[in-house]
Amino acid sequence: MSRSCLRAAEISAFIESGRADATVSEHLRDCKTCQIALDSLENEVLAMQYSISGLWFRERISCPTEAELADAAAALGDTAVRDYIDFHTTVLGCRSCVARDFEAKSAENPEVRRKSRSVQQRVTDSMGTLFRKLGGDEAPPR
Ligand SMILES: [Zn+2]
Ligand SMILES: [Zn+2]
Repeated sequence: MSRSCLRAAEISAFIESGRADATVSEHLRDCKTCQIALDSLENEVLAMQYSISGLWFRERISCPTEAELADAAAALGDTAVRDYIDFHTTVLGCRSCVARDFEAKSAENPEVRRKSRSVQQRVTDSMGTLFRKLGGDEAPPR
């Protein structure tokens, strides 16, 4: 069973999250139009990512700790924390964290729960700084 073509918002959501539900991925597999749209959007996003990572590293925003990664891997704590780690590993593509994230997924630690509040604050501050530098008021990067 197929569905209608994806809207731009759905395509960017797919690029951002790397996930799609069954009907979306099925459609993407079969529809040339959507594949082309996805490709060109991905290229735009990639170009944007390079400038974000340069900025990110100039700002010396540190990698998440083992505990933060473990927290996210276990789907504990606040969504903001998990979003940050997604951003760090997926968007910035930090290789060391991608590897650690993988390890963390098999080493869940209950202590990380206690850290999540301060982590959340730090993440919120970091993201705020980043987005202000990109020229918006807490707005997502353009
Ligand atoms: Zn389509
Ligand atoms: Zn990292």
